Amino acid sequence: MYEIFIEDSFSAAHQIREYGGNCENLHGHNWDVKVFVEAKSLDNRGIGLDFRILKIEVEKVLKDLDHKNLSEIKPFDKINPTSENIAKFIFDKLSEIVNSDSKKVSKIEIHETQGTGVIYSPEK
Ligand SMILES: [Zn+2]
Repeated sequence: MYEIFIEDSFSAAHQIREYGGNCENLHGHNWDVKVFVEAKSLDNRGIGLDFRILKIEVEKVLKDLDHKNLSEIKPFDKINPTSENIAKFIFDKLSEIVNSDSKKVSKIEIHETQGTGVIYSPEK
């Protein structure tokens, strides 16, 4: 099994509802996003998934979040735009695009600040 990863980032604002503190106020982060894809096999070039192609697919997902107020866009107008929920959102969207018989998104790691973040992976 190979685990391929790329890193990307996006900037956005959010408000955490019912937080009971500062995070309820509108504020922003530069989220760093690390995407992991498991590949069972390699192509004849020895590549599991081309980094450039993965990067393009990740950018498609992140562009819907970049420079937005997440609290105002779906699904975060209903569910809280926490890093946990954002990581799962990216996981689900990217899985729709990337997953095939030979490869699947395995986890999403996002950093809200330098020292804080979330890793989402589905239960196995
Ligand atoms: Zn925040």
